[in-house]
Amino acid sequence: MTVRVGVVGGGQLARMMIAPAVELGIELHVLAEEEGMSAALAATAVGDYRDAATVLAFAETVDVITFDHEHVPQDVLAQLIEAGVRVHPGPDALAIAQDKLIMRARLQELGMPQPDWAAVVNATELQDFIDSHGGRAVVKTPRGGYDGKGVRVVAAATEAQDWFAALEEDARGGALLVEELVDFSRELAQQVARRPSGDVRAYPVVETVQRGGVCAEVLAPAPRAGERLSEVAREIGVTIAEGLGVTGMLAVELFETTDERLLVNELAMRPHNSGHWSQDGAVTSQFEQHLRAVADLPLGDPSPRVPWTVMINILGGPVEGGLADRFASAMTEHPTAKIHTYGKAPRPGRKVGHVNVAGDDLDDVTYEARAAASHFLD
Ligand code: ADP
Repeated sequence: MTVRVGVVGGGQLARMMIAPAVELGIELHVLAEEEGMSAALAATAVGDYRDAATVLAFAETVDVITFDHEHVPQDVLAQLIEAGVRVHPGPDALAIAQDKLIMRARLQELGMPQPDWAAVVNATELQDFIDSHGGRAVVKTPRGGYDGKGVRVVAAATEAQDWFAALEEDARGGALLVEELVDFSRELAQQVARRPSGDVRAYPVVETVQRGGVCAEVLAPAPRAGERLSEVAREIGVTIAEGLGVTGMLAVELFETTDERLLVNELAMRPHNSGHWSQDGAVTSQFEQHLRAVADLPLGDPSPRVPWTVMINILGGPVEGGLADRFASAMTEHPTAKIHTYGKAPRPGRKVGHVNVAGDDLDDVTYEARAAASHFLD
C-alpha cells in the first residue's frame, strides 16, 4: 500500500522531498503556511501549524507526520500523539531542537563536548559569565532563532538589555543562553539518519562556510578530515541520534577548535542546508533518507558517489533581471552544475536555490560551483 507522508511546513526542504517521494512511491502531502509556497508542487493544504485542529485534520489525510521546520508547538504535538498519529521526529526529540537551553542541558547529560554555557536571567549573571570568559561571550535567544538571528557576540551585558527586557514582558519568563566565544578554525556538520526501529546511517562529516551567520558553501566531505576527526564526528552524531531518540534526519553543527577539538554548536532534526550536497554527491540524498526513515523503510547508503561535492547557496537572487534568466545562463555555461531552484521570489538574503557540482578534484569542483553560482550575483 502507498505510504502517505505529511510534511508540516511548505518551504524548500518540503519541496526537495517531492522528487524522492515520487521515486519511492510515497504520496507526499504538505501543510503550507500560505498559498504558492516553495513546496506547492506537492498535494498541499494551507493552514496554521500552531492550530491543533488544523494540524489534526491534516494528519487524518496521511499515515505519518514529519516537518520542514521545528516550530510546531509542543501542545499541538501532544494532541497528535494523543490521537494516535505517527510523528517523526517525536515531540520529546523536537523539544530539544526547539530550545537551545534544553539542548545544552541534554547534551551535557549525554556527555557531548560543547562550549562552556550558562542560563542567565539578568544582566548581572551575564556580566559574571563574560568576566570569567575573557571579556567576550555569545548570547543567544533560546527559541526561534535562525540564520544567525538571535545570536550576538557581546563584550558587556548592556548589549543584551533589549533581550532581557523582552524576557520580562514574556509571561513565561525564562532565560537567555550564554556561551563562551569559541576560537574555531572552521565549522563542520555531521548528519545521521535514524529509523524508528533504531537503525542508523551516518553521512561523511562536511565543512560548512558561513557568511554573516548564513551558510554560504558546503564542502563534502570536509577537506583534511582525517580518520580520527571523521570518526569522532560520526560518534557524536550517532550518540545524539540514539540518546535523544531522533527519527528522520539529524544534523549536528560542530565547531572544530584551533586546538583540534569538536564542540557541538546546534542541532536540526530534519533535512538541513549542510546536506544539500547529497542530492548530487551521495548514493542516497538526505531528502530520500529522511522519507525512508520517517516511513520506517530500510535506509539507503549515505556514501559519496564521487570524491568531492561542493554546494553553494543562491542568496537573494539578482537585483536586475529575472531569476529564470540567471538559471538559464548558468545552465548553458555550466552543464555539469546541478542547479536547484526553490520557486521563491528573490528578496535580499533569502535562500532561493543552490548549486551542486560533484567531481574528482576539489579545486576544479569548487571553481565550477562558484562560477555557476556567480550567475546569480548582480
Ligand atoms: P542559528 O540558530 O541562527 O543558526 P547558531 O547558534 O548556529 O544560530 O549561530 C550562528 C553562527 O554564530 C554560528 O554558525 C557561528 O558562526 C556563530 N556562533 C554561534 N555560537 C558561537 C560560539 N559559542 N562561539 C563562536 N561563534 C559562535
